[in-house]
Amino acid sequence: MDRAAAIIASLALLCLVVGPARASVIVGPGFGQADLAGHLQVLRDPDGRLDIRAVSGPGLEDRFVPLSAVRGLAGFQRGAVWLRFSLGWRAGDQQPMWLELGFPHLDRVELYAPRDGGGFDARRAGNGLPFSKREIDHRHVAFRLAGHPGEPRAYYLRLETDASLQLPLRLWSEPAFAAVRESSQLLLGLYYGAMAMLLLAVLLAWVILRAGLFLRYFVYMACYVLLQVALTGHGYQYLWPGWAWWEGRAYGVLGGLALAGAFRFASGFLDIDTRVPRLRPVYLVGAGLGLVTALAALTLPPAWVNPGLTWLALLAGPWLLSGALAQASVQPLARWFLLAWGLCLSFVAVGALYYLGALPHTPLTAHALQISSLVEVAVLTLALVDRLRALREEKERATEDAQRHLASLNEQLEQVVAERTQTLMDSNQRLLELVNQDSLTGLLNHRTVMETMQRAFSAATRYGQAMGVIMIDLDHFKRVNDQYGHLAGDQVLTGVARVLKSGVRASDLCGRFGGEEFLLVLPQASEQAAHELAERLREAIARLEIPALKGERVTASFGVAIYPGRGDDSPLDMVRRADGALYRAKQGGRNRTVLAPPVATDG
Ligand code: GH3
Ligand code: MG
Ligand code: MG
Repeated sequence: MDRAAAIIASLALLCLVVGPARASVIVGPGFGQADLAGHLQVLRDPDGRLDIRAVSGPGLEDRFVPLSAVRGLAGFQRGAVWLRFSLGWRAGDQQPMWLELGFPHLDRVELYAPRDGGGFDARRAGNGLPFSKREIDHRHVAFRLAGHPGEPRAYYLRLETDASLQLPLRLWSEPAFAAVRESSQLLLGLYYGAMAMLLLAVLLAWVILRAGLFLRYFVYMACYVLLQVALTGHGYQYLWPGWAWWEGRAYGVLGGLALAGAFRFASGFLDIDTRVPRLRPVYLVGAGLGLVTALAALTLPPAWVNPGLTWLALLAGPWLLSGALAQASVQPLARWFLLAWGLCLSFVAVGALYYLGALPHTPLTAHALQISSLVEVAVLTLALVDRLRALREEKERATEDAQRHLASLNEQLEQVVAERTQTLMDSNQRLLELVNQDSLTGLLNHRTVMETMQRAFSAATRYGQAMGVIMIDLDHFKRVNDQYGHLAGDQVLTGVARVLKSGVRASDLCGRFGGEEFLLVLPQASEQAAHELAERLREAIARLEIPALKGERVTASFGVAIYPGRGDDSPLDMVRRADGALYRAKQGGRNRTVLAPPVATDG
């Protein structure tokens, strides 16, 4: 038989025997699975006092109504709910079936399977009993139904729970049930694997970086993942199978702690204390309420705590996002948070509405909380990448700024050093001038003019070149002082110095030899050139006008000595010879130039 034919056959086998209210499920060869929702009838027992005899007896039989006609059955309930469905097997095929209650949190479940000779076999299951009492090692309650020949028979289920009530009842053939258990195990295994890796990474990040935010994230995520483990039924199956007391409270305790953790983590992530301090109490109250819920779940009946926690989870969305909204316009990280937690909390809201009975049981609603954590982790990872990118850019910018700043500091430093060096050089120069200069006239002083003359003499000797010196003495200067005063005399001295300075070549040197005597040193000067220069200067002095002298002029006498570059001479002898010539000029009537006789040369 090919596949299509098998499907048609299995559909045909699922035939309706009576009207919709009393539809029987008939199973036979090729049957895989069926949702029992359309075949269920419900009787409410708010006080929880009815027993199987009562509900199957004639008095109450007609009080059962189709599931589709009952409103508000899902969610948190008071008392017990009775379910009835009719099941039969095709003649000649009595393979056993599995009845699965596809919702993990049913505290007390009783199945009343019809006996061959009349009456019922009672079987009990649910989280109120240790996990080991279950008929099969499965996270949901499931009963194995043995086949029976003949007419369809009525099966009764009594459900009572402190948690939210959901009624996804499904009938499976044994092979189909084995296959679906395996695939759902695989998917949830992948989910736990991803979450375990994340928790490990966050824990490591905390150990290495010691940033408190990672610890908050770890505590929050650990509680949230454990809550998922509890909600899927795996907690009871694997982690606390013998601990029915805890199984009843795990939802409240872990949910409360996860909420408290979420508020603590969010306020740290969004830096509420410094960025939006006015919202600090809002986040503290959220975390406090989560903790109070967790404590209450440990002490109060779960039937009181669980609905409150679910309402709190529904409200937590806008509450947790308020801090991110307040700074989304300025903080890129807050926008990421808004995206991650907005998506995550939407799924949490879907989950909460499902547990409150406002949304039907579908794969999406039943797994909304697991999806929420996956979405959050994915977006927060992106946020982390974005944050790292931003940090790197910030670091690069800071490095560039620092380098620019350093360069400009260097430039400033170089400028300051250059200025200081210049000032130092200027003052050195000034100092040198002060040491070498005559303070009144600005000409070289006696010591310096004698030193430079000696150097010029050495050079003249080395190169065999002629040089000359001129000794000058102002005429009757004592009288000028006496007549016009010393200040007037000083004016005469500076005026004469100016004339001398401007009258000589750049290579010639002018010095003040003493009182009103001057010495000129003329490198590479012939006798004629020296004599001409002396005459020119003498005439210029005679023309010099000094305001303090009221029209009177001063004159000076000149003595010139020449050294031809060789011969028996020395600097001092040259000065002496020039001084001798000067003396003769004075003797000869002053205001004149006299040449000293030449020195003896070998050739
Ligand atoms: P003679 O023509 O013979 O050289 O006559 P004189 O008056 O110039 O005689 P002498 O050279 O002996 O006089 C030098 C005078 O120069 C003496 C002093 O009063 C004056 N004198 C020397 N140094 C300075 C100076 O720095 N300032 C002024 N105002 N006078 C000075
Ligand atoms: Mg004089
Ligand atoms: Mg003199």
